[in-house]
Amino acid sequence: MTVREFLLHLLLLCQIVSTSYRGDKVYRLSLSTEVDVKDILSFITETRDYLDYWQTELHVGGHVDVRLSRQQDELLSSHHLRNISHTVQIEDVQKLLNKVSHYGRGRTKRSTSDDEADYSYTRFNNPAATHREMYRLAAQYPNLTRLVGVGSTHQGRPLLVMEIVGLKKERNCPMVWVDGGLHAREWITVAATMLFIKKLLEGYGTDPYITDMLDSTKFAIQPLANPDGYAYSWNSERLWRKNRSPTSVAWCKGVDLNRNFDINFGGQGASDFSCSEIYNGPNAFSEHESKGIARYLSSVRHKLLGYFSLHSYGQMWLTPLSYTRKKVTDRTEHLDVAHIATRKIKEATGQKYSYGPATALMYVTSGDSSDWVYSELNCSHTYGIELGDMGRYGFLLPPSHIRPTSNVILSGVLAAVEVIAAGPDNLTTPRRQRKYKRRKWRN
Ligand SMILES: [Zn+2]
Repeated sequence: MTVREFLLHLLLLCQIVSTSYRGDKVYRLSLSTEVDVKDILSFITETRDYLDYWQTELHVGGHVDVRLSRQQDELLSSHHLRNISHTVQIEDVQKLLNKVSHYGRGRTKRSTSDDEADYSYTRFNNPAATHREMYRLAAQYPNLTRLVGVGSTHQGRPLLVMEIVGLKKERNCPMVWVDGGLHAREWITVAATMLFIKKLLEGYGTDPYITDMLDSTKFAIQPLANPDGYAYSWNSERLWRKNRSPTSVAWCKGVDLNRNFDINFGGQGASDFSCSEIYNGPNAFSEHESKGIARYLSSVRHKLLGYFSLHSYGQMWLTPLSYTRKKVTDRTEHLDVAHIATRKIKEATGQKYSYGPATALMYVTSGDSSDWVYSELNCSHTYGIELGDMGRYGFLLPPSHIRPTSNVILSGVLAAVEVIAAGPDNLTTPRRQRKYKRRKWRN
């Protein structure tokens, strides 16, 4: 162990001992020049293994949100950050946590066990309640749904995917995948995806748009892609991001599942240090969760029309690729789909979403699920969607955001699926129409 690693371990141990976020602030560092971008990149490279970065939009006009404890905020005067202006985004993380009732109406205290009362769509729910609700919905809509297990986690929780398709479906109809909760602390992605499922099921036979959509496309939805991490975030450490697999360091658990896919594994934007928030794991697909998704999607690859991975926060619709800035050949089509989807989101919810290549809007990462599906399964339409908000609450959104966010998923994802499935006619310009190659999803 090097001296640096020893100091990092010491720091991390202190953080583990104190699970309160009292006095921690979230700072927003604003990037106005290319020099700022270069400086912040050097700072992130030095500190990424022990600081908690909340959001990273690494470009001129972008910003970086980082949580710093009282002991850490002297880093703001370090030489890399000297010229970068910053504001306080969240004054006291613990106070905000206490103030925002995460557990919804009438619930100020969370349960410490997985056993809990019924599921509620107006609050956040623990992993066991979420799974129970998936079983309940499957039983209520047996003709429209099928629950598929794609493995179980290190702690033995099931990895459940709900398939939804209409009664008039064709054999071999195209498929679309949606996942939420790959990162444990992004609770909104779990709750809003659950409500998205409910709206699809209730909409079939009552809403012509949803009925047509489900009669022509099968949805495979995994609202809780990282149940162990979510349980830990629920019970112990609200801002936990990874899963809970043991690592080579006893007191540093967890792998960042969105760095564990077999695409440019271990490259830029990932860490091989097991205590890091972006630890990529000992090897690609070392984790049950990523392996489960990969195995399922490989088995339906010829039918896969689109892949949508839900994260938070920042309100962005991200197009491929994440691990390289190299332009992909179908970028124009991606931008068209993103343009149409974000326009629809604005019309339906009033919320503004930006769109563009992930590397341009955010940063370069490796081992990303969308990149793997795009590159290895040859699925042309893979998108990462950073849901709300813009940073006022960050990961600590109050439950009142669940419904509007589920409307973002409903309007955005369905608009995207519609345009992808329809092919050239729905794209915006004749030039783009000519360039558009309709994906052949049938064998
Ligand atoms: Zn995420």
